[in-house]
Amino acid sequence: MDLTSPVTRLSQVGENTAGKLKKLGISTLFDLLYHLPFRYEDRTLVSPVSRLQPGETVTVIGTIDQLKNEYTKGRKFIQSGQFSDTSGTIHITWFNQPFLTRTLKSGTPVALYGKVDLFKNQPSLISPDYELPTPNHELIHMARLVPVYPETAGISSKWLRARIFSLLKSLDIPEIFPAPGFLPWMQALWQVHFPSDQALAQAARRRLAFDELFLLQLTSLRRRLSWKQVRLFHRFRVDQKQVLGFISSLPFSLTPSQSQAIREILSDLSSPHPMNRLLEGDVGSGKTVVAAVAALVAHLNGFQSLLLAPTQILAQQHFQTLETLFGPYGISIGLITGASKFKIGREAGLQRNPNLQFKILVGTHALLTEKVPPDRVGLVVIDEQHRFGVLQRGKASALGISPHILTMTATPIPRTIALTLYGDLDLSLLTDQPSGRLPVKTWVVPETKRADAYNWIKSQITGSNSQAFIICPFIESSETLTSVKAAAAEFTKLEKIFPRLKLGLLHGKLKSRQKDEVISRFRAGDYQILVSTPIVEVGIDIPSATIMLIEAAERFGLAQLHQLRGRVGRSHRQSYCLLFASSPTARLKAMEQHFSGLKLAEIDLQLRGPGQIYGTAQHGLPQFKVASFEDLDLIEKAKTSAAQILPRLDQYPLLRDLVKEDKIDLIQPN
Ligand code: ADP
Ligand code: MG
Repeated sequence: MDLTSPVTRLSQVGENTAGKLKKLGISTLFDLLYHLPFRYEDRTLVSPVSRLQPGETVTVIGTIDQLKNEYTKGRKFIQSGQFSDTSGTIHITWFNQPFLTRTLKSGTPVALYGKVDLFKNQPSLISPDYELPTPNHELIHMARLVPVYPETAGISSKWLRARIFSLLKSLDIPEIFPAPGFLPWMQALWQVHFPSDQALAQAARRRLAFDELFLLQLTSLRRRLSWKQVRLFHRFRVDQKQVLGFISSLPFSLTPSQSQAIREILSDLSSPHPMNRLLEGDVGSGKTVVAAVAALVAHLNGFQSLLLAPTQILAQQHFQTLETLFGPYGISIGLITGASKFKIGREAGLQRNPNLQFKILVGTHALLTEKVPPDRVGLVVIDEQHRFGVLQRGKASALGISPHILTMTATPIPRTIALTLYGDLDLSLLTDQPSGRLPVKTWVVPETKRADAYNWIKSQITGSNSQAFIICPFIESSETLTSVKAAAAEFTKLEKIFPRLKLGLLHGKLKSRQKDEVISRFRAGDYQILVSTPIVEVGIDIPSATIMLIEAAERFGLAQLHQLRGRVGRSHRQSYCLLFASSPTARLKAMEQHFSGLKLAEIDLQLRGPGQIYGTAQHGLPQFKVASFEDLDLIEKAKTSAAQILPRLDQYPLLRDLVKEDKIDLIQPN
C-alpha cells in the first residue's frame, strides 16, 4: 500500500471524516501512521470474574449471557444483564443505550473494561467499555496498554485505534535501511501504537525518531557531497591587503567572532569549490559587515554579488548600509525590489539590462525572478534565511554558475542542532555582541501603569535624540486590513498623547515609496516615534532608537519578542523594552530576565512542556513528527549512520529513492 495515498483510501473514511482528520494534521496514510499516542492507558489487568472486588478497574473476557432493556421510574432506559467467563458470572449495567441489546446478544463473545461497583447490593460492572474480539481473538481497546491519541471533535482515540490497527495489519513494508541497535521499522510502528510494555513503547519511539534524524542527515550529507564536487572555473584570489584596508576603514573594530567568521569565509572563497556557509548570530551581533567583506572579495575578483533580504524595508536598509561602506571604493550598488525595479531601470537609463551595471545588487526575492539575471554572479548572500525557506535557497544556487553562497540567520539554535539541520552547510557562529552593548532593560507593564509609561517615554525622548518604536497589537500573522486599521487608530490616539512629538506610521499596506520614506524619516530623526505593525521585526537597524514598546505582548511568541526587542540596544546607549500585556505570563517574565536568543529559545521549549517540538514555525525550524532536538545521542547516532551508509547508498535502492533531493517530505521547513 502506498503510504502517500490520502486517508480516503481507507474504506471507513469518507470526505467528511477526512475533513476532521485534517484538523489533526492527518491527510495521508503516512500521517495517520505517524499520529502517535501521547500516553498509554494501562488496561493490562485481566481478571477472572470470580475474583472481582468492588472498586477494581479491570478487563474481563467472556460472553454475554443476556442483556435486556428495562424501564426505571424516571422513565429512563437501563440495560441490565449477565456476563460470565469460565470462573463465574457478574451483573452488567448500562444507562440509556438501548441499541446495545442488539449488539450484545446472548452468547456474544466480548471483552469488557470498567469499574466493579455495587449495584442494588450486588457486584456489577457499570457502563463498561466493550469490545468484540477480532476473528483472531485480538483485542485493541483492552487487555493491553491502550494508546490515547490527540483527538478532535468526531475523531476519538477509540476510532483512531481501530483505523491504525487495521492499517498496520494491511502493511507489509520491508526495512528500508538498517538501523542496528534499534527495533525494526514495522515492529517499531506496532509497538509505538500497541506496545507490549512501556519499555518497548519507548524503544519504538526512539527508532522512529532515529529515522527522521537519519534521513535528514543523509539528505544533507548528500547535498554537501554534490556541492563539494563542483569545481569553480574562476577561483577567487583573496587580496589580504585590500580586505584589511576595508576592515580598518570601519568606524568600529570587529568582535572576535566576526574576525573568526571572516577568516572562515575568506578561506572558503579562496578554495576551488563553491562556499556554502551559514552565518548564525543573535540579533545585533553584526552579520551585515561580515557579508560585506565577502562581497568586497567577489568584487575585487571581478564578480557581482547578490544580497537577498526577506522584506523590502530591509533590502532598502542594506542598500544604504552598503552604499556607505563601499562609497569610497566606487563600487556601484543596485536595489531591486518588486517596487523599485522599474525606477532603477529608468534612472540607469542606458542599458536594456541595468543589472549588468551594478557590482552589488540588493533585493527581495523579486531578484530571483528577474527575467534577465545579472551577468557574473560570484556570490549570493541570503539574509534572514529562515524567512525564505528551502525553495528559494535552491533557486539561488540555480541562478549563477554555482556561485558562493552565504546564508545568514538570527534563529537561535545551538551548534549541534544547527549541524543537524543544516548538515550540508558549513557553520560560522557569532557568539559575542559588539563591545559596549548594554542589555535592554525590559519591563512587563500592566494596563494600570499605561499613563505612567507614556509620561516616562515623553521624558526620555524630549530634549534628547532618543527615539521609540511602538508596535501595534499583533492581529494576524500576515498584514490584513484589520491590522492596518488598528495601526492607524493607534496612531491617531498616540498623536494626542504625544502632542509635542513627531510620529510616523508604518504598515505593510503602504506603498513601497511611502514605506521607504517613513523609515528614512525615522532614521534621520524627523520622527521621534515610529508607530508600526510588526513588519519591522526583522533586520531593521536604527541605532538611535532606544525604546521599544510592544502592545498586547502576550500574543507574540518569545522568538518574535526577542527579534522585536533586538531593534533597540544597537549602540552604546542604554535601551528599554516595555511589554504591555493584560497579564504577566511566565513567557513575558522571561523577557525581563534573559537577553540571549538561545536562552530564550530554551525557556520557550521548557514552557511548552516536554514532548513539544522545539522547531515550531516560529523559529523557522522544521517540524519533526517524532524526533526532538533534545535527543542529542540520537542525533549523534544518526550522523554516524548516515556517514557510513552514504558511500554504499546504491546497495539500498529504496533509501536512495527516498533521499533523492526534494523527495523527502518527511520534514518540511517552514
Ligand atoms: P545583525 O547581526 O542583527 O544583522 P547588523 O549587521 O545589523 O546586526 O549590525 C548591528 C549594528 O551594529 C549595526 O549598526 C552595525 O553597524 C553595528 N556593528 C556591527 N559590528 C560592530 C562592531 N564590531 N562594533 C560595533 N558596532 C558594530
Ligand atoms: Mg541583520
